[in-house]
Amino acid sequence: MTENPSIQGVYITTYGCQMNVNDSERMFSLLELSNYQEVQKPDDANLIIINSCSVREKPVHKVHSEVGRYRQLKKENPNLIIGVGGCVGQQEKKKLLSDVPLLDFVFGPDNIDTLPSLVSEVRAKQERVAKAKFDYQSPYQVETLVRNPGVSTFVNITKGCDNFCTFCIVPFTRGRERSRSMKDLIDDINKLVERGTKEVTLLGQNVNSYKSDCGANFAQLMKTVATDTDIQRVRFTTSHPKDFDQELCDVLQNHRSKLCDYIHLPVQSGSSSILDRMNRRYTREEYLEKVKMIKDTIPGVSLSTDIIVGFPGETDQDFADTLSIVQEVGYETIFAFKYSPRPYTKAAKFTDQVAEDVKSARLNQLFAEHRELGFELAKRYDGQVLDILVEGTDDKREGVAHGRSTQNKLVHFNGTADLIGKVVPVRINKVAPNSLKGELQH
Ligand code: SF4
Repeated sequence: MTENPSIQGVYITTYGCQMNVNDSERMFSLLELSNYQEVQKPDDANLIIINSCSVREKPVHKVHSEVGRYRQLKKENPNLIIGVGGCVGQQEKKKLLSDVPLLDFVFGPDNIDTLPSLVSEVRAKQERVAKAKFDYQSPYQVETLVRNPGVSTFVNITKGCDNFCTFCIVPFTRGRERSRSMKDLIDDINKLVERGTKEVTLLGQNVNSYKSDCGANFAQLMKTVATDTDIQRVRFTTSHPKDFDQELCDVLQNHRSKLCDYIHLPVQSGSSSILDRMNRRYTREEYLEKVKMIKDTIPGVSLSTDIIVGFPGETDQDFADTLSIVQEVGYETIFAFKYSPRPYTKAAKFTDQVAEDVKSARLNQLFAEHRELGFELAKRYDGQVLDILVEGTDDKREGVAHGRSTQNKLVHFNGTADLIGKVVPVRINKVAPNSLKGELQH
């Protein structure tokens, strides 16, 4: 409950990717300027927003059922208004308003900055509003708005995507790709450093196709962030293999003290014919060449990937190719999902969909094989002293702190709250499949 009666409570639920997490934070920041304050329970809110995601299964159904759960609150509180943002808002637009009578407004990811005025409009006019137009006219200028940036923060550098992978709805829900100017980004990161941030992750659907208005590409942006700001660590996600080049590898190697030894390089499948049907624009061989270039230039770098199993037409041999590329590359971490069709996408219309039980069996096999591989690969850290950026202390175990190595490995060790935000040396003495344990070195 908010203490000041002139301040109204806002409750936001967030689904999906880091972009959405960032967008929710932006919504909170903008709404705070309009006298709203975050509340922890929907019962205490006068404004509820569902920041939706279209990437996983049954996204529209999820929105319907969540709004349905607020039916009683809406009856009890005539001031309560409910909105849906994010990708489902963009995808469904006005239709969502007609399908869900309890909803008061719908908006898309490109309309977040108008949220305070949208909410005022809904209240003042007592009208239901849908605002889900892409804004291609104004430049992409958004200062990072986070209430408590903390040790590690995400910074959007691009939005949208032009790649149209045949399984992906993002080009339809986030629109065409656009980049923020490098100057704005450097100013933004410097301000975050002043507020205590030690690590930024530069965020975009395809960061490698970043292009500043001054002509700088992603490699030049990374170099400038490393040299012209006092940030201690820089990560990025997500990169597209087709755009990963030698220039970027060289920058990563030359500025290794700041640019982290961790690259997320989504492969999606190990089979060239499936990659072609996914419109990924690289073959298995070309992907492996990129991996070789990365490993040759940045020895010891840690790699992770995204994989879709059961894409339409995926045969046993195609799946075997995926299993083998995982071994060949040696990903320390994988993020794997079963394919499921998304509206508007080409692959949803493919007639050779894979049976659900086959997809589940393949996913289980992939995880089982990777569990062993990931464990084997993590053993290389045993006995090493790693520089850990301390992120917090353990709520349940006193005297235990945790943080990440430059290779993005989560490490628990003996430490206290005064270390949060510092980079400390920790000797690894226990390797578990999903995390490492170690001893603080003095
Ligand atoms: S690169 Fe492909 S998977 Fe990634 S956001 Fe763009 S269309 Fe989607």
